[in-house]
Amino acid sequence: MFDYFCAIGNMGWAFVKGLGVTFKYLFSPAVTVQYPYEKLTPSELFRGALAFHPDLCISCDMCVRACPSNCISLEAKRNEQTKKKDLQWYRIDFAKCNYCRLCEEICLTKPKSVHHSREFELTFTSRNDFVVEWRPERPQPKALEPGQEWVKFLTQGRPPGRRRAKSPEGKK
Ligand code: SF4
Ligand code: SF4
Repeated sequence: MFDYFCAIGNMGWAFVKGLGVTFKYLFSPAVTVQYPYEKLTPSELFRGALAFHPDLCISCDMCVRACPSNCISLEAKRNEQTKKKDLQWYRIDFAKCNYCRLCEEICLTKPKSVHHSREFELTFTSRNDFVVEWRPERPQPKALEPGQEWVKFLTQGRPPGRRRAKSPEGKK
């Protein structure tokens, strides 16, 4: 008989504890973020879409060798005047990237030529679009709003098979 009432007491206590949790969250401020109207800022260590800076890259090939997914490729030509390698193009296949950060860690330049951004809203509409290509001669956008990081990279890097139509000012 004693055990019977103990079991009822334990069940009642568990019920009250559960209700306590419910009431605790019922009267505390909501933590729901109304995405996409509200966005949280990812941490500094967040591995978002890779960004590349052709103006910083020294074409050392280290990121190509370090990448376990074989998704980075580049072409460089030796410049006999400067005795350095001039970057011709640099490609990342985002379909293969596993966001491991090895390319960023091994990159020799300071600041890093290739690095993860905090962009997490990456979308591609076709399989070909996953391959993004950067070229040094492509112009940098003039003005950027905070949070438009990925737009910036798309301005320079874009699927190699596609070429944007020239603007009325003759820019690419
Ligand atoms: S994050 Fe990893 S998988 Fe992606 S490009 Fe860099 S090294 Fe390759
Ligand atoms: S490791 Fe850095 S500097 Fe070297 S090729 Fe890759 S992005 Fe360029």
